[in-house]
Amino acid sequence: MSRDLPSEPLQPGAEYEALIHFLYRAPVGLVQTGLDGTVEMLNPMAANLLMPVAPAAALDDLFAVLDALVPDLRTRVAACAEPSGMIVDGLRLALPAAKAPNAPQVLSLSLMKLDPERLMFMVADATLEVQREKDTLSRRLRSAARTDALTQMPNRDEVRDEVERLMALQASGDAGFAVLLLNADRFRQVNDNLGRAVGDQLLVQMGERIRGALRPPSDHLDPLGRGGQLAARIGGDEFVVVLDGMRSREDAERVAARLLDALARPYLIDGHDVVSGASLGLVWGAGAAATSDDVLRDASIAMVEAKRAGGGRQRLFEQGMRERAARRADIEGELRQAILEEQLFVVYQPVVGMLPDGGIDYAAGVEALVRWRHPRRGVVPPVEFIGVAEECGLIGALGDFVLEHACRDFLDWRARLGERAPRLVAVNLSRAQLGQPGWIGHVARLLQDTGMPPAALQLEVTESLAAQDQDVQQRLHELKALGIKLALDDFGTGYSSLSSLHLLPVDTVKIDRSFVSQADTSHHHQVLIEATVKVAQSLGMQTVAEGIETPSQAGVVRAHSCTKAQGYFYSRPLAAGDLLAWVAERQDAAR
Ligand code: C2E
Ligand code: MG
Ligand code: MG
Repeated sequence: MSRDLPSEPLQPGAEYEALIHFLYRAPVGLVQTGLDGTVEMLNPMAANLLMPVAPAAALDDLFAVLDALVPDLRTRVAACAEPSGMIVDGLRLALPAAKAPNAPQVLSLSLMKLDPERLMFMVADATLEVQREKDTLSRRLRSAARTDALTQMPNRDEVRDEVERLMALQASGDAGFAVLLLNADRFRQVNDNLGRAVGDQLLVQMGERIRGALRPPSDHLDPLGRGGQLAARIGGDEFVVVLDGMRSREDAERVAARLLDALARPYLIDGHDVVSGASLGLVWGAGAAATSDDVLRDASIAMVEAKRAGGGRQRLFEQGMRERAARRADIEGELRQAILEEQLFVVYQPVVGMLPDGGIDYAAGVEALVRWRHPRRGVVPPVEFIGVAEECGLIGALGDFVLEHACRDFLDWRARLGERAPRLVAVNLSRAQLGQPGWIGHVARLLQDTGMPPAALQLEVTESLAAQDQDVQQRLHELKALGIKLALDDFGTGYSSLSSLHLLPVDTVKIDRSFVSQADTSHHHQVLIEATVKVAQSLGMQTVAEGIETPSQAGVVRAHSCTKAQGYFYSRPLAAGDLLAWVAERQDAAR
């Protein structure tokens, strides 16, 4: 406004009167002074604002009033050689703490030279303005605190608030939101094998793909025009997508499928081809969850189920999952104890050779199978705890335990039975073991320390594990380089096929029990067994039929030239000592 003041000296008259009246009532403080600061005119607002800071409450010399706040004011005025012009523009003056509750804390001061003899000061209360600026700044800081620094996505706090908001809306009858929790399937391996920098880049690219896959929001806009979507990284390799205003659960599942598709495509990072899909847990509405943390926990439980089912897929949260998760948590705690207290032990199931003359080779080999002697539940089978051990990082200790016992028992049998002892011991391998850094070296040392001949050790991997990426293949080749035998377990249940068998570095294919159990009743299964044996033979691989329970099943697999067989028909898994007796007895009988 000071810019609009006439620069010519004002002449008395009606216009002048009106202007003075206007200035008098202006909502800013206006003070006209001489060049030496002597006050010639000031309006009531100026008096209000300046009186509290004026020494001895005297407002006759404005330089004196402002001395303490702007010490160089006189110099600035003196330095202005022009006849008129702006000298100070919107200078902020912090006032000493005032006693009155609503007293200004900050003044804004502008000063203009009106003409060679007069100055015009404009003073305003800038307290609110400064407060607003502070608010904006703290909002920005807060938003930085709510942003994940790596991906620039909102973080967990932001997700919590959004979910709380949607839960409140749902409570008032407004339905239709979904929380999708995604966890990278192979992040740890990427970090371990390719380094953190590549891991970080993977997370950034995953974040970008998630955001990309959410656009356009066409399939979940509702008539109310809502349809907000929040994509966040809530920590580590975990992302959350909150979808608002969904018409139906199926719509949310479609978005989830799109996200998984986008994430499953290979990533190119620093010249590396990185493969890492994601597992997704989906929560539809809040259900029985009371807080946003409950909703996130439910989504996480469903995500873990998706991982357990093999990863790269989605699972919808259901109430039953919570109990199962709790049970797994119980098992986890008990299993830690079990390893410490040596409640685990190893049993051995004979694997017999099918001799061309119709006879049976009882010393062909054995398979080591872990058991848990639970203090209350008795002997627990591995299906109930191997998965948990894999998830909670206990599989390394468990696997090492079995491997070491298998090698020692094998050598013990050899020491006792010599030539008549089993010639091969098979040990099951889990994905997590293969992924452990330094594990191959550990196996090499174990072989050396125990004196176990590598060619007498067979490690069994499942189809779905063996058919995985380059890393797994690499590790399997490293094991083979040690001279160890490899078997493909449970063949027929996974997703590798006969046509890709030649790609896997295995010596033996174990045909899954589900095929063998129908070998004598289903022509279809017979054909599959026959085809598997033929392909394996052509690749120089051995075949083992698993789960033989009846003589007729044994007959069928023999008829199809399967080289080995395993099953209750021959023997159930036995304790180490019983196995020794079993082999010795049968060999003696065969003599
Ligand atoms: P697998 O490696 O395919 O082992 C064969 C399973 O089939 C064993 O079950 C065995 O007891 C069972 N079986 C053998 N013959 C018959 C039969 O005639 N009829 C029936 N119904 N079952 C038969 P088990 O010991 O319960 O082990 C199940 C799975 O747990 C194993 O399948 C293997 O994948 C895993 N496992 C066992 N021990 C270990 C271990 O030390 N480490 C790892 N990573 N996994 C293990
Ligand atoms: Mg096995
Ligand atoms: Mg098997």
